[in-house]
Amino acid sequence: MNSLQQSRNQVIQQIEEACKQTQRDVNGVQLLAVSKTHPSESLREMYQTGQRAFGENYLQEALEKIEALNDLDIEWHFIGHVQRNKTKHLAASFDWVHGIDRLVIAERLSNQREASQKPLNICLQVNIDGQETKDGCQPDEVIDLVKQISQLPHLKLRGLMVIPAPGNIDAFKDAKALFEVVRAQHAHPEDWDTLSMGMSGDMTEAIAAGSTMVRVGTALFGARDYSK
Ligand SMILES: *Cc1c(COP(=O)(O)O)cnc(C)c1O
Repeated sequence: MNSLQQSRNQVIQQIEEACKQTQRDVNGVQLLAVSKTHPSESLREMYQTGQRAFGENYLQEALEKIEALNDLDIEWHFIGHVQRNKTKHLAASFDWVHGIDRLVIAERLSNQREASQKPLNICLQVNIDGQETKDGCQPDEVIDLVKQISQLPHLKLRGLMVIPAPGNIDAFKDAKALFEVVRAQHAHPEDWDTLSMGMSGDMTEAIAAGSTMVRVGTALFGARDYSK
């Protein structure tokens, strides 16, 4: 067994264990492989272990990998911060965008998504624990943003994404509570199905709190080298 197979098995085991401990269905937690800084050959190798969903943070790097791996059936997620000038490429080349925190960005993505493509899946990023430097809308803006973004024709708003400060387990519970508040008021609650939270260091706690998608990089691919 190669090392990526081994590390993926370990991560899946950890997800299964977290689900078991909290009596959750393991099918309710998706694994997103966060592959930023890793070469496309590593993604191809990870794909061969059965992984289909990959998350990238940097647009130019991501576009090169999408091109290099276009023979594979990968579901591409953009998990970096979304700036205005990036929306065109995101709308054209991705299946999911997690870092939406303003209506204007969502509108641009919807306008730029081709009608012939499937709607672009979106998560609204919330600054759940009031971090000063972090992106994300404020929790009290979420209800209005959900109403407005849900009207956009070429998007499918699926839920929330949070990146709490390391070790802030309570923030996962706050995110879950907010997620449920929105669901209770949602016109189509069945479409509101994604709570994107948890990374290599805190996926167990995130799953215990109700995460439906963990974004895991280091535990799958090893440490990142930003020097290149
Ligand atoms: C890099 C990144 C991750 C993965 O972090 P690891 O600690 O390597 O698992 C998850 N989510 C976001 C938004 C990231 O930027």
